Amino acid sequence: MKIRLIYPEWPKLKEQTQFNLPPHGPVCFAAALSEDIDLSFCDENVEELRLGEDDADLILLSVMLTCQMPRAWEIADWYRARGVKVVFGGIATMLHPQETMQHADAVFLGEAEGRFDRLIEDVRNNQLKKVYDFLTDFPDTSLIGTARRGILKKELYRFRGFQMVDLVHASRGCRFNCFPCCTPYLGGRKFRPRPVDAVVEELKSIDNDQVFFVDNSLAQDDEWEKELFRTIAPLKKKWISHPIKDSDEILDLAAEAGCWYVYQAIVDTSDHIRRKIKRLKERGIGVEGTVLLGLDDHDEDYIKRLVDFLLEIDLDLAEFTILTPFPHTPIRDQLMRQGRILHSDWRRYTTGKVVFEPAKMSPSALQSMYEYAWETFYHDESKEMRMARMFLKLIEKKKKDGTYKRVRLSGARKWTKAAVGEVAP
Ligand code: SF4
Repeated sequence: MKIRLIYPEWPKLKEQTQFNLPPHGPVCFAAALSEDIDLSFCDENVEELRLGEDDADLILLSVMLTCQMPRAWEIADWYRARGVKVVFGGIATMLHPQETMQHADAVFLGEAEGRFDRLIEDVRNNQLKKVYDFLTDFPDTSLIGTARRGILKKELYRFRGFQMVDLVHASRGCRFNCFPCCTPYLGGRKFRPRPVDAVVEELKSIDNDQVFFVDNSLAQDDEWEKELFRTIAPLKKKWISHPIKDSDEILDLAAEAGCWYVYQAIVDTSDHIRRKIKRLKERGIGVEGTVLLGLDDHDEDYIKRLVDFLLEIDLDLAEFTILTPFPHTPIRDQLMRQGRILHSDWRRYTTGKVVFEPAKMSPSALQSMYEYAWETFYHDESKEMRMARMFLKLIEKKKKDGTYKRVRLSGARKWTKAAVGEVAP
């Protein structure tokens, strides 16, 4: 059977640096497919999708983001109008099953391992069903295989000469239930770690010294987190992750295991946050703050104070997003009850546009404050400069543990040195 797996284009935030990371959902999903399937892959974010230039028996759309959905529906409509069967999967499909069914021959809801082959069997027998619902039937994490990164065209994931990090995951699910987040709905309210041996095997298979643990949060089980960091340390990978536990022992282990930088939610201007950032930076771990704007206690003055605070605590990078009430999040339920959702035009659910009525500002004032936050944070030191500093940190770390490979002063190093003013651009 020939399958074409498509990852549709999605609109980037205009303030973000325009690089593309290799997608994680499609390569994980591909690992769950039987090897006798002839699989081709197109990531429309980095290459042109030539519709119809294939003789696939089945089109699979892997969709991660709500704002990616309208484009996925367009692609599906094109194929179905020509009699080709289309199946949808991925996180956004789980959030939008009803609308997606109007554009699909089947929707697959849930995690694919040990489950998707039932759908393939039904395709072979011409008995495809409309819905395959495994939303609450989570596979054992020992079934998760090494992601099939061979389907990616690696050369397309470079920025200024740097190979982009490869994405990997060591766990699924989340035991927390934060108000803006749909992860507990999607992956379950339980932390589900993969066997550490399987994670190590996968890391060894990745031909890249830099990886990004895309786990929702590694800070969910202290003993597991310590074991993970101790076990991966000898691999000398340099890695990025979402939050890690704020404890001396775990932070030390993370630094020794190659933690390059973490994404840390900055929820207020407290001493607790200040200390947390300081403790990471003292260990040579960079911090990219993820900052959500438009919460009910935010007014214009609060956002100004928050940006001042971020500069004062010397965050390496900041990413500002506007609170967005995605389906199956506690905040959407609340805003719906209060009649504060302005629309459900999913193309505009990018986290860069206001789609609800804020409590203490008008929608346009919040939109302006979002732009203010990006501009002010990066006013004195541009994003390029700050990113270059992060790359220099990476080079220093590699020099320290003997993994740095000297390259000619072109491409990546030249950009880095120019950005921090060591050579002429
Ligand atoms: S925001 Fe992070 S910690 Fe909170 S529920 Fe979502 S994944 Fe879990």
